[in-house]
Amino acid sequence: MTVTANKKFRIGLIANRSHQDAQDSKLVQLIRGSRAALTHLQPELVVVGRTLDAMIGHDLLEICPTVERFPYGREGGLMKLVSRVVDSDPKRAVDAVIYLIDPVDPSSIFPEAVALKRQCVIHQKPFLSTLASAQEWLELEALAAGAQASPALDQDFHPEQDGIALIAHDAMKNTMLEMVEKHFALLDRFAYRCATGTTGGLLNQLAQKIKGQEAGRNWVQAFRSGPLGGDAQIAELVLDRKIRRIFFLEDPHVARQHEADIQLLERAARTVTDFSQVISEVNGADRWLSLLTKRIDAVRQP
Ligand code: PGA
Repeated sequence: MTVTANKKFRIGLIANRSHQDAQDSKLVQLIRGSRAALTHLQPELVVVGRTLDAMIGHDLLEICPTVERFPYGREGGLMKLVSRVVDSDPKRAVDAVIYLIDPVDPSSIFPEAVALKRQCVIHQKPFLSTLASAQEWLELEALAAGAQASPALDQDFHPEQDGIALIAHDAMKNTMLEMVEKHFALLDRFAYRCATGTTGGLLNQLAQKIKGQEAGRNWVQAFRSGPLGGDAQIAELVLDRKIRRIFFLEDPHVARQHEADIQLLERAARTVTDFSQVISEVNGADRWLSLLTKRIDAVRQP
């Protein structure tokens, strides 16, 4: 993404109904928990109707005062948000989308919900569909803009205790290799890495080149190839909270024979929304890995 530290973000925001109303709903947890980052970044929020009603009900506008109301979902609010993702007018376009998805809410798989994610991938804008992803993105962007790290989030930045999954569709495999080589020092610090079959084989070859034949042999655990069920195997680890981050370079321009498996993996992350996240866009991922390194190093400082 080409956003500079000084530009104010415009962020699309929507939460499925079950993430809105309770006193400790995911929407409330996100905005209250990210108070410092939001105060620092002062983003403009484009909020779909009922989500905005919930924000008003919870007094959250005190933290995020700059909002534009979008229509209710049934009146096309989510559809209009897709248009804002692809808009070339910087005064209208959103830079990122936070969509706190409840995977058992049928509206989360409506065409506009699927298109929203897909257009975010195509236009290289973060699509943050879990509490963990939105919280982490706000924290890292605030850090990039000069804010202090929030000590309450330190527990999420210990790679030596965490797993990460690495997956790339065929058109994206070279990009994945470049990205992993560039950020190898960080990725090497994770307690556990896994990948789909072919991606995993390529990454182990890369690790052998970098770490030596033996040391690099099982750098990632390679599961089955994506079309043969590898995404589902990784989803099980996500549901068991063994994988906090999934770095998934997908190819949005081709028909995917295993589309259902890809969706399954994303839905697994949303099932453990306070823990897990999928990062799908390339430019954002490069930035994310750099900022993640910076944030992890901030934990170590007294
Ligand atoms: P692969 O699977 O790493 O085995 O190619 C990824 C995919 O294509 O889904």
